[in-house]
Amino acid sequence: MTAPGSGWDGLSWIFDPDATCICCGAPTTSLLDVACAFPHVGDARSLPVLENHALLESTGDILTSDFCRLGADRFLRCILELRLSGRPELVTLGVWASLSASDFDLYCRHFDDRAPGDLPNMGIWLASSLPLPYDLPAACTLVPQPQGLRPLLEAQDSAPTLLRLQQDGLTPSEALSFLQALGHDITPDQQLRS
Ligand SMILES: [Zn+2]
Repeated sequence: MTAPGSGWDGLSWIFDPDATCICCGAPTTSLLDVACAFPHVGDARSLPVLENHALLESTGDILTSDFCRLGADRFLRCILELRLSGRPELVTLGVWASLSASDFDLYCRHFDDRAPGDLPNMGIWLASSLPLPYDLPAACTLVPQPQGLRPLLEAQDSAPTLLRLQQDGLTPSEALSFLQALGHDITPDQQLRS
């Protein structure tokens, strides 16, 4: 058995802000900050990314920096923060999430002028594929942020795996699997080489 708190020893280099990935040379500061450019639904990936104001100038399928309308479905670009067990650092995932058309319209109306608390809590469902195990459907609560910041997602009780990753955090082996799933060729042997 490994002593509590020592499980990160082999991966500790990912927390060194001046280090680079052992496999690809990417700055370690980018390893835990991952963004999805489009919802992993339907043909969203084939849409060009437009400026946000384009949303109001059309009624059809559209993908902008923060919004996506696809048929009857509506999506928001959100931030999903996960913890790392016993560490202060966060995994920050730029994801897309699906909500009702009425909540989408309400959010859009307040997008430019909102302050925290202006909007009610809204139910929203993760619509991005994550490089780690999670619940499907993953029900979350949308937490609006001050102007200029993307809204946060908080996992609901009905998404217990995601909730655990937000509350207790990824274990070192889950973090290793996460990085491997993102294409980083990191093995236990390589970890020790750092
Ligand atoms: Zn790498």
